[in-house]
Amino acid sequence: MLTVNPSRLLDDLRELSRIGATPEGGVHRPALSATDLQARDWFRARAAAAGLICRQDGAGNLSAVLPAADPTARTLLCGSHLDSVPYGGRFDGALGALAALEALRTIQEAGLQLPFHLEAISFTDEEGTHISLLGSRAAAGLLTEADLEHPHSSPEAFAAALERAGLRREELLTVRRDPASLVGYLELHIEQGSRLQDAGLEIGAVTAIVGIRSFWLTFSGQAAHAGTTPLFARRDALRGAASFVTRAAEIVSVDFPPGVATCGQVEVAPGAFNIVPGRARLALEFRHPVAETLDEMEAALFALARECAAVHGLEVAFASVGGVEPAAFDPDVVAAIEAAAGALGLRCTRLVSFAGHDAQAMRAITPAAMLFVPSVDGLSHHPGEYTRDADVINGANTLLNALLILAGRAWEQERAH
Ligand SMILES: [Zn+2]
Repeated sequence: MLTVNPSRLLDDLRELSRIGATPEGGVHRPALSATDLQARDWFRARAAAAGLICRQDGAGNLSAVLPAADPTARTLLCGSHLDSVPYGGRFDGALGALAALEALRTIQEAGLQLPFHLEAISFTDEEGTHISLLGSRAAAGLLTEADLEHPHSSPEAFAAALERAGLRREELLTVRRDPASLVGYLELHIEQGSRLQDAGLEIGAVTAIVGIRSFWLTFSGQAAHAGTTPLFARRDALRGAASFVTRAAEIVSVDFPPGVATCGQVEVAPGAFNIVPGRARLALEFRHPVAETLDEMEAALFALARECAAVHGLEVAFASVGGVEPAAFDPDVVAAIEAAAGALGLRCTRLVSFAGHDAQAMRAITPAAMLFVPSVDGLSHHPGEYTRDADVINGANTLLNALLILAGRAWEQERAH
């Protein structure tokens, strides 16, 4: 079986982690910042040193390409992202981008002539410093003018970042890849959770990315004197909201596994030691991999909120603040990952991703899936984020062999037509 060059990949990871290195041991490479641009230059140089073709599209997506003999061949994509969250870790994104580059180098060195172009791609701004999944959504044709008008940073900061990177706003919406030109997309990533570690497993074949829904829940009662109003006579908005927070977690864990629900913010008004809260506003977010179950969770959580409100003599109102639909991955690509892991003798399980990734955009235009390797103690978006060398290599070897399996299958299908 073909396997990657372990020391070359580990050296690459170490070298890349020096760009934007923080004293805590992590990296600070927000998208299109000076350190992100430095990481891109480094990636280009590594690709060029390997004799691969280097390309960048109008959204700043950066690719190393191992071309097929036939220039009209389709392209098999693999990759992730070089940017990080502010003061993040060394592995999120970097692992997938560098393992993709290493897979191409390995195939090239082995002298394998694949019938497809192989492309290792790093997508722009996966982490949403300006716009979440900017590069992959642009490549998938999902990015809209409205997205460009509402960057997370600010219109000024976004414009400055584009200029710094030599990108033009009007080109961002023109880079959609033609689905007919693609074979598929594979992404290796750290798990960012501890399920693999807890189960003693080495590879996660990711079958879906969860959908997310977010709402403001406003419980309204009656502000009152905190001394003279008896407890039984109060319409305390925070007490209603608090019972909702506690019971929501119970309902979701019992009735909707593997779903999660979070109340991540609460605002209480008027807000003083000596006033019974008249209003409590909760930020509710919940996630599940199945769309129909998300609907059921929403109905159950709203019913619970109404019940908690009624018990405390409150009203409750719901306001949606958007969401993301669940993204199911391609069963054949998932099967290729499992077959590769199996052939390598690695213990593999199917799981869903509770975080967003570039693969969820790419699946809109080509068969896609992801594979996870363990994150020590599940730590991620943190300078202490760590994946053991052995797991880095296992992940890269599984990615490499899954690519070969997919290329083989696609070639057989092409010849059968
Ligand atoms: Zn990532």
